[in-house]
Amino acid sequence: MEQVNSSQRSILIVGGGTAGWMAANLFSKSLSHLGFDIALLESANIPTVGVGEGSTPYIRHLFSALDLTEDEWMPACSATYKGGITFADWSTKKGFNQYFHPFSSSLDQQSFDVFRQVTMLRHGNYQVDAHPNSYFLQSELVKQGRIPKSNDTSVVDSIYAYHFDATKLGLFLKSHAEQLGVRHIVDEVIDVKLSHSGDISSVLTTSGRTLTADIFVDCTGFKALLMEKTLGVKFCSFKDNLFNDSAVAIPTAKKEGYVPQTISTALSNGWKWDIPLSSRTGNGYVYSSDFLSADLAERELRQAINANDPNIEARHIKMKVGRLEKHWYKNCVAIGLSQGFIEPLEATALHIVQLSIEQFVEQVKRGDYTNKYQDFYNHGVNHLFEHIRDYIVLHYLTNSRSDTDYWKACRNDIKISDRLQAVMEVWCSGQDLEKELNRQQVTQYYSSMSWHVLLAGMGVFPQINSAELTEHQQAQQALNQITQYIAKHTKYFPMS
Ligand SMILES: Cc1cc2nc3c(=O)[nH]c(=O)nc-3n(C[C@H](O)[C@H](O)[C@H](O)COP(=O)(O)OP(=O)(O)OC[C@H]3O[C@@H](n4cnc5c(N)ncnc54)[C@H](O)[C@@H]3O)c2cc1C
Repeated sequence: MEQVNSSQRSILIVGGGTAGWMAANLFSKSLSHLGFDIALLESANIPTVGVGEGSTPYIRHLFSALDLTEDEWMPACSATYKGGITFADWSTKKGFNQYFHPFSSSLDQQSFDVFRQVTMLRHGNYQVDAHPNSYFLQSELVKQGRIPKSNDTSVVDSIYAYHFDATKLGLFLKSHAEQLGVRHIVDEVIDVKLSHSGDISSVLTTSGRTLTADIFVDCTGFKALLMEKTLGVKFCSFKDNLFNDSAVAIPTAKKEGYVPQTISTALSNGWKWDIPLSSRTGNGYVYSSDFLSADLAERELRQAINANDPNIEARHIKMKVGRLEKHWYKNCVAIGLSQGFIEPLEATALHIVQLSIEQFVEQVKRGDYTNKYQDFYNHGVNHLFEHIRDYIVLHYLTNSRSDTDYWKACRNDIKISDRLQAVMEVWCSGQDLEKELNRQQVTQYYSSMSWHVLLAGMGVFPQINSAELTEHQQAQQALNQITQYIAKHTKYFPMS
């Protein structure tokens, strides 16, 4: 029997996708010096999912934790900056056919206070500009094609994220983890052995190895080989809340002069992403197989992105949307697609991966390397999944398309949580949504600004004949000031 290490404590990560290599790096940084030996085992025959090109600003903590500068990792991963996401064609309401969900900037607190008041005035039949694009710095930066990284953060700063090539990021993280001392084993797990206590004692591989460890990390993707298949942890599907279960991805050539945003455009039975990388453009169609076949999805995507040449390869992917009931069970923790997946609309998967790893390290240490805080951890990760899911569901719930049964079902048949129901009731009755979000204690998952931007951006306002609206001079003056203030500060952000 081969031990993964001979030192005091050992971690075996099974799976070498982005989640596995992120875990390898972060575990190594935070646990190696405490006597942990870390190894990663991956199969050469089972491919990684190969997608995951967008991120949230939280990923910047990964690179800073690993002491990696943008100059070191960005070119290697064909990365670009991301200031937010444009949602196009989700709403058919006049003036709201698209909106931008920005990452925030240091100018936004004041703008947001005005915006919040304005959305309430709009519910009260005042004639005000309640479209979010007018209020936030990042919207203007994107309009002008400026990157969201300030060259004078003492004057103005903004939060930003990145786009990257998922395969290149995986390879980069692999090489970095190896430099940190993580051992890389290329082999395939064919069986898993349990001890009397129900812990995983070892994994058996195709080459005849038996590998033991103290902690096993399931990074085997949607398969969830250790947690679900072996330990029998229940999977809680989000199928009733989110209908999309499939995707097709087709890369196209790089666009000149990239705009630092993801564009999410609603199509007939789902939405397509458009992600600018420095080497190519990432495109994909996320859809529901209950409403659209894979062939038709591919055809629709090809038409939408003008990739009609059948030699341009399309990759079809099945998505398992939901989460495990427990993410840490016995001596195993699931990280990545193995622990669950919401769907890529707001590019939150790697955000969850990162938080899960960080929290796991914190709780393992806090519990003196026992399972003492396992329940606490599982509760926290489940909350994260549920709250992010609610925010994603809101995009579908508030769509106003009626061109297909899919969009009507998203509006009428989707199951929503009581929390989301309360959000909708408060918003639609013109009450203070921020107060409700604070009452629910949900702004650590998505900020109040994000919730307001989504609901206003979709045009979720009472239908009123514009002739019946009352002018509101003060709101217009406040917006004029914001416009001038934003215009004065865009010069601090270089062109892309
Ligand atoms: C359509 C789509 C779009 C997405 N877009 C985004 C996005 O924009 N932003 C974002 O943050 N996330 C996105 N994601 C999620 C993101 O792709 C994943 O979170 C990320 O790639 C991590 O995947 P993983 O490492 O968990 O799994 P995988 O990449 O599937 O890796 C699984 C690994 O397990 C190994 N393995 C499996 N079985 C065995 C075995 N028996 N023995 C040994 N090794 C084994 C495989 O070889 C592989 O190395 C998207 C996902 C999908 C499906």
